[in-house]
Amino acid sequence: MTRILDGRATARSLNKALKQKVDALDWAPTLAVVLVGSDPASEVYVRRKGIVAGRIGFGHRQIDLPSTTEQAELLRVIEELNNDDEVDGILVQFPLPAHLDEKAVLDTIAVSKDVDGLSLESIGRLAQGRAKLVACTPKGVMRLIESSGIDLQGSHAVVIGRSNIVGRPMAMLLEQANATVTVCHSRTRDLPAILKTADVVVAAVGRPEMIKGAWLKPGAVVIDVGINRVADSEGNPALVGDVDYASCEPVAGAITPVPGGVGPMTIAMLMENTYEAALARRS
Ligand code: NAD
Repeated sequence: MTRILDGRATARSLNKALKQKVDALDWAPTLAVVLVGSDPASEVYVRRKGIVAGRIGFGHRQIDLPSTTEQAELLRVIEELNNDDEVDGILVQFPLPAHLDEKAVLDTIAVSKDVDGLSLESIGRLAQGRAKLVACTPKGVMRLIESSGIDLQGSHAVVIGRSNIVGRPMAMLLEQANATVTVCHSRTRDLPAILKTADVVVAAVGRPEMIKGAWLKPGAVVIDVGINRVADSEGNPALVGDVDYASCEPVAGAITPVPGGVGPMTIAMLMENTYEAALARRS
């Protein structure tokens, strides 16, 4: 029978354990989230992060900036947060409006407060196996795999997608866990043939239900990072992953649902990173 890897339940228990640690402190780690503009999906993510931060007992600040914010003003806000002693973690919600430079934003966040783990230094540290704060989504995938007792040693892991946010750091973490890693991307030839040899598949593409069950090796572990907003058969808004769940679930040995798989784990890792950043800064 296929195991459903329940990210929601795993994240809940991680958040609960973290809350106990935070309750034991006589101060509260503080997370600052910057939202530029009013992208509806970003607003939902930021709201969710605020709710979980509040539940855990963190101090939480949300800085809302208009979509017309200029680059210099955004960098000034980040510098202010860098210099604010009460703030332990800074997250700027991506994507930013097109006129803003995301790389410059990441380069401005103090590395000690880079709880999203996406700055040049954080990714460089990860590449060398010297990470401090690890990118939340790939870290969440690893934690979900580990907590499910899945052994990665010597397995063939195929990561689909090579973005700086997900695919690339994901491949590094899998390799550091002793998997043999193949990274596929938009120019990869014959993705189905490569997937047929994969013990573990991590899909981070952004294409609704692209990965089909017929492409999988029976028993594969399938991790679906994708979050795609689509209309269901009745025209109502629905969320689907990059994996065609209906055809993959019967073939896979284990699979994450969307929603309720990687998404909640990403938020749990953001909370863990904020706690770690706070302890490192304040001890
Ligand atoms: P991205 O657009 O930056 O990268 C997509 C990657 O997919 C690229 O590297 C591209 O080469 C590859 N790709 C595109 N078409 C392909 C094809 N036909 N075959 C193989 N590879 C192909 O996206 P991203 O930021 O990495 O996000 C990927 C998905 O993950 C999106 O759906 C996003 O919403 C989701 N996401 C989820 C979480 C979470 O917490 N669950 C976090 C971040 C991103």
